[in-house]
Amino acid sequence: MKKEDCIFCKIANGEIPSKTLYEDGDFRVILDLGPATKGHALILPKEHAADLFELSEETASKVLVVARRVAARMAEKLHCDGMNLVQNNGKAAGQTVPHFHLHMIPRYQDDGQQINWVPGECTQEELETVRREIVG
Ligand code: 5GP
Ligand code: ZN
Repeated sequence: MKKEDCIFCKIANGEIPSKTLYEDGDFRVILDLGPATKGHALILPKEHAADLFELSEETASKVLVVARRVAARMAEKLHCDGMNLVQNNGKAAGQTVPHFHLHMIPRYQDDGQQINWVPGECTQEELETVRREIVG
């Protein structure tokens, strides 16, 4: 199902033009308008899901297959040295467009970009407490 006022629904379904790298029955892969690096792309499911929590298992299971296909193409054509896959869910996580999308960010040696977090510290006991909280 498409969502009426969703820009990524419109792009994914071809109602708004985009720089498309790949398309199949379930997805469109487009170049990001604000690229972090050359080739920065977004995988958009054609069916609306606001985020990972709303994504169907069927669509979720196909996303990495598409990413792998497009990544191989980018490695061949752009000669990138690496690739970050980034996927933001919710405002707190930096999501700005509420239609699930997987960022594909080709990386080049010394490209000056940063996709980082500050590593914390914790004990084995603290890890165990969190583990129990999640699985319990
Ligand atoms: P988020 O912050 O939600 O993870 O990422 C949203 C991404 O969508 C941003 O990288 C932004 O540059 C990109 N974006 C937003 N609007 C458009 C658009 O209309 N077309 C394209 N191609 N990219 C967009
Ligand atoms: Zn949508």
